[in-house]
Amino acid sequence: MNRVPNRVLLPLQIDAVAPVWGAATHRLDGQTMGTGWQVQWVATGPAQAEPVRAAVQQELDLVVNQMSTWLPSSDMERFNRADAGTQHTVPDAMAEVLQAALWLADVSGGAFNPAAGALVNLWGFGPSPRYTDAGFVPPTDAAVQQALACNDWRSLRWDAVRRQIYQAGGLRLDFSAIAKGYAVDRISQSLAAMGLHHTLVDVGGELRGRGLHLSGQPWWVDLETPPLLAAQRLPVTRLALHGLSVATSGDYRRVYTHDGVRWPHTIDPRNGRPVAHGLASVSVVHPECLWADAWSTALTVLGREQGMALATEHAVAALFVQREADGTLTETMSPAMNALAG
Ligand code: ADP
Ligand code: MG
Repeated sequence: MNRVPNRVLLPLQIDAVAPVWGAATHRLDGQTMGTGWQVQWVATGPAQAEPVRAAVQQELDLVVNQMSTWLPSSDMERFNRADAGTQHTVPDAMAEVLQAALWLADVSGGAFNPAAGALVNLWGFGPSPRYTDAGFVPPTDAAVQQALACNDWRSLRWDAVRRQIYQAGGLRLDFSAIAKGYAVDRISQSLAAMGLHHTLVDVGGELRGRGLHLSGQPWWVDLETPPLLAAQRLPVTRLALHGLSVATSGDYRRVYTHDGVRWPHTIDPRNGRPVAHGLASVSVVHPECLWADAWSTALTVLGREQGMALATEHAVAALFVQREADGTLTETMSPAMNALAG
């Protein structure tokens, strides 16, 4: 980190954990969910690398086995393939994520939609076909209409007592916009349960920090910014990731261009098409990474004006980066994000 920050975000609450002087920083990484993970922890004594790796792998395996759309044997894929008119019991972790996702689907008017899997696949962002496959072309309007007809999250008839959902026919769940954040939370909690209170956990760029860095400083991270246009430098926003998580949704990763049109991987499930209102990125800071992850996608779909209104109503700390008509980038912060900036 050799850039000078233009803006510093600080948590509103400081945890009562003492730094561990004379300790060392340890680091492990690996691959999961089509992306990378990394954990760092500060501890005295032996590194405990093997127990840490085992704990991380256990949490990742649990999330993937229940919620991956890439694993045919996952609970989610078995539901996605199920016959119309069938009832399914959801395992605990998947139920927890589903409950959160359904709440956000309701409050965002379906901008965030955990039942948008058919649309996600259609646009080439599911397991198959992939937008990177040779000869892949965006879907026809008729195909979009067909997928739109089976993406109503309310048709799941979520029964929180029995933990059951209903397959109305052709509905496909997809938790890709929330499961990485949830995995980060589980790993962070699992490490804390092992007595590791100074940790930085990253799954695919969604981050959660606890306690302090070796230096006694918080874990400082710079918010991800869209690739810079030659003429413009965005301010560097540096965040003290202390008891906080951060996620950034962007239109510049996993995106393809067909006949001169850019198709990013965030879909507006209300019209069945990739979002196209010029938001370059949305970063959300929240104590829990599940919420940072899911909100960043919800706000991306809503766009700056509606997104800002919803973020304000729910006290969500969000930073919007908009591509203006002249190609420049403009930043806007929600009130809760402003509060972190002092
Ligand atoms: P980002 O980092 O840009 O937020 P994520 O990986 O968190 O990206 O989420 C994007 C993925 O979420 C897509 O690849 C797709 O599987 C799924 N998705 C796309 N649009 C929506 C939506 N409106 N609601 C819920 N999930 C979505
Ligand atoms: Mg997300």
